[in-house]
Parts: sequence; C-alpha cells; structure tokens
Amino acid sequence: MIAYLCPECGEPARRTSLGDQHLDGTPLCPIMGAGGYEPARAVATDSPEGQQTRADLLDAFGADAALDVLRDGKPEQDVLGGALDRTGVYGLDHGEVAPAIDEAFRRHLDTYRARP
Ligand SMILES: [Zn+2]
Repeated sequence: MIAYLCPECGEPARRTSLGDQHLDGTPLCPIMGAGGYEPARAVATDSPEGQQTRADLLDAFGADAALDVLRDGKPEQDVLGGALDRTGVYGLDHGEVAPAIDEAFRRHLDTYRARP
C-alpha cells in the first residue's frame, strides 16, 4: 500500500526531512502558491484528496486509451493492456484498477464519439 501521493501527477510520494518527494527523489510537481510556483505537498493515499487523485489518474488512463482507439485506430485490447502496464509506475494493482480504467475508457469513448 502506497502511503502518500503527489496530488498533481498521482505518482507515489514520500515525506522526507528535505521536503516531500516522488519516489525517485525529485520534488513533487509544482503548484501555484501564494508566492509563485512551489512543490505540491504529498497527500495521504487514504485521504479524500488522495482518493480523488487516484480516481482522476484512472480516469486519465481511460481517456488516453479511448483517444488512442479513436485517433490511431489501435485495437481496444492493446490500448487497455498498455494502460494497465503503465499503472505499475504508480504502484497500482492491475486487478484492482482494471475495472475502473475499463469503465473510464468506455465512458470517454462514448463521449468522444458523440461529438460532432
Ligand atoms: Zn508529481
């Protein structure tokens, strides 16, 4: 279980004495603060914000996959498999996130197809 997330990119994060970091040691993604851009603060995965970050991330995976199918004509199974492969970076469990990505994929596919 990943304890913390970067609220901007959804990657796993950790809290250190030098500030919050992605797991590769880079500062968290910048956000606009009172004095300009500053690194985001890590959010707990089980907090409402962390849950929202995760949900947004899965939604983005579904949207990307839908665009790949519509724009590039790639087979559904390929893009969904590719999306699942990329979730590894985010410390996500394939079996756990597959239904959410699939749902987001179909929702975005319908939305994109409905556009004139
Ligand atoms: Zn980030």
